[in-house]
Amino acid sequence: MTGELEVLRDQAEAELRKAGTEEEIQAVRTRFLGRKGLLTGLLRNIATVAPEDRPQFGKDCNEVKELLSARIDQVLAEMAASGKEQAILRDRIDITLPGRVVRHGRLHPVTQVQEEICRIFAGLGFSTVEGPEVELDYYNFEALNIPKDHPARDMQDTFYVEDSIVLRTHTSPVQVRIMEKTRPPVRILSPGRVYRRDSDVSHTPMFHQIEGLLVDRGITFGDLKGVLTVFLRQMFGEDTALRFRPSFFPFTEPSAEVDIRCVMCGGKGCRVCGQSGWLEILGSGMVDPAVFGNVHYDPEEFTGFAFGLGLERIAMLKFGISDIRLFFENDLRFLEQF
Ligand SMILES: [Zn+2]
Repeated sequence: MTGELEVLRDQAEAELRKAGTEEEIQAVRTRFLGRKGLLTGLLRNIATVAPEDRPQFGKDCNEVKELLSARIDQVLAEMAASGKEQAILRDRIDITLPGRVVRHGRLHPVTQVQEEICRIFAGLGFSTVEGPEVELDYYNFEALNIPKDHPARDMQDTFYVEDSIVLRTHTSPVQVRIMEKTRPPVRILSPGRVYRRDSDVSHTPMFHQIEGLLVDRGITFGDLKGVLTVFLRQMFGEDTALRFRPSFFPFTEPSAEVDIRCVMCGGKGCRVCGQSGWLEILGSGMVDPAVFGNVHYDPEEFTGFAFGLGLERIAMLKFGISDIRLFFENDLRFLEQF
């Protein structure tokens, strides 16, 4: 082997040892074995070698070429193998680590109560409808027989958006909206948010009500009593005692408030029922003929009853919650209990 060829071989091996990346190794291959590489260049100069030495020179060149090529392949293979090993170490899964717990969501207690009430009334033929929370004064008050100077407006502290637009103070305006576009029979239930300027342990500025309305020919106060009795016994238990007390609402006549025997003390008297043994649950009454007049129902032909109840109050009684504000603080420690 000529000295020149030996130098070239040693130089290539030295560069290969220094090469740290695949790119650097491929660069060594190009520099020595490529078409314009150093070894190729040496072979091209075979004409300058004495004729009798040419066969040996060619043989030596090919030997070095094969040796270098094999060496480069070997280094590349070693590098790939160690890369795989590192990847295995890096991506190793520690099966002794505890898993990630998936947190389950739950329905809010108010939603649970709302769904239960809607389910009970669906069984009685009522369908569920919704209405706007930002409401015209007309639907919230006027059409429900509560004119501008009516003292009943003092009963409700209203959030006004503009003179004639309010945040609805009850779900009753939905009655009017439905009756305006439907002819009897009407059997609807309307749950939703309502707003009043009020805040303490039993009042929040936003809370939920459910409104019910049934209108048809020949509906009497007996039907009202029957439907509400079936509902309250399904909600609070078959042996729940009820009482109907005369009351006043501008949009019903006659009106009644409905109490159930206290679910906390069974009627003996406790803090929740204010020692009376009874709990106020809902307001109800026969739809006032003046309201029918506003939606062009003939009060001689149709009669009906309406009722409304607060969902938070029902949820508080059902789950034994003493402060209404807890419903809206979104504290998971509270909400996860239901
Ligand atoms: Zn009680």
